[in-house]
Amino acid sequence: MLTPEAKAELEKQQYRIIGRHSAVKTCGWTKNMIKGEGGCYKLKFYGIMSNQCMQMTTSISCANRCTFCWRGYKAPVATDWKWGVDEPETILAGSLEAHHKLLIGFKGNEKASKRAYALSRTVKHVALSLTGEPIFYPRINELIDQFHAQGISTFLVTNAQYPEQIRDLHPITQLYVSVDAPTKELLKDVDLPLFKDYWERLNQSLDYLAQKKQRTCVRLTIIKGINDLLLEKYAELIERGSPDFIEAKAYMFVGPSQQRLSMDNMPLHEEVVAFSQELAKHLPDYEIVSDHVPSRVVMFAKKKFKIDGVWKTWIDFPKFQELALSGKGFTALDYCTRTPQVGLSGKKTAEHQKEVKERFRKRTHIFVDEKTEEMAFYGGNTKASMV
Ligand code: SF4
Repeated sequence: MLTPEAKAELEKQQYRIIGRHSAVKTCGWTKNMIKGEGGCYKLKFYGIMSNQCMQMTTSISCANRCTFCWRGYKAPVATDWKWGVDEPETILAGSLEAHHKLLIGFKGNEKASKRAYALSRTVKHVALSLTGEPIFYPRINELIDQFHAQGISTFLVTNAQYPEQIRDLHPITQLYVSVDAPTKELLKDVDLPLFKDYWERLNQSLDYLAQKKQRTCVRLTIIKGINDLLLEKYAELIERGSPDFIEAKAYMFVGPSQQRLSMDNMPLHEEVVAFSQELAKHLPDYEIVSDHVPSRVVMFAKKKFKIDGVWKTWIDFPKFQELALSGKGFTALDYCTRTPQVGLSGKKTAEHQKEVKERFRKRTHIFVDEKTEEMAFYGGNTKASMV
């Protein structure tokens, strides 16, 4: 799938290529959490322990060339699978090995929390996102079953260009579909899709997403001045997919996307909040539940996750694993649990950046403990956790 030059380029960027078409790369938030700098937004929203998360892909190739993507245009693109297919066991074993090797430097690092690093030795979550189109891998279901058999939860992100793969996907912990623009014309400009019938594929994918029984999420990437409009059209697409969750997330001015977009296209957190509050007016079945200032993201949940007045957007991972291995049917509500911290923070990007600077100046470490509802770390209560 990769030319030797492309492989060398990716290795320089700290990707580790597994076999012929998979890759692993340590997520910045995994490192942050081990260094005591807090966890990712999926920790706050869903309970993912960022230090125990492995970020990977099973297909470096993609059928889109999204303008906002952090990949360079040297990355392979294709509509059909035309390479050898690696064994799921080989991919799983190779990815875990490469992931742990990438983190080994934290073992003796005094800045790292010994406990957070020790916990990272046990991967509990896999994020099949990283780059390319993981769902494209022909044996994705076998690999998913093997992750669950090893007690590893599965998040998978797809850009909705392979609807049948979504239809046939085995139950996973949380399935993401990216909706990158509100209309056919704008989607072409934003995603530069290879498939001629890209719009029909998106709509068919949303239809199949609506039929899924486990947790689903629609992800919007907001590019200021480009796709932050026609909210009623976004709402139509979202309602078609009927996801359990919606994430409205700012485009981040990083990597090769800087050659295609400008810093002005990156919304501030408060602009993502304003966009979300407007969008919420078109989505009566949903409510805004939470936000994460560093990632400039707002999360909506379907009202069915507010049970007896309590939001339950966190994942009961042991329950999910039990259900996934039972072979019996189950739904998203069967493995949800209480969300420790809800509500919008009311914080602006500038305020947050000032706080981070202050924390670094004071060398304040933040450690996370899932038992003590660690979300306090954004409130500066750092001593509460990690005994
Ligand atoms: S869930 Fe995503 S953002 Fe969070 S640690 Fe894993 S890869 Fe990183």
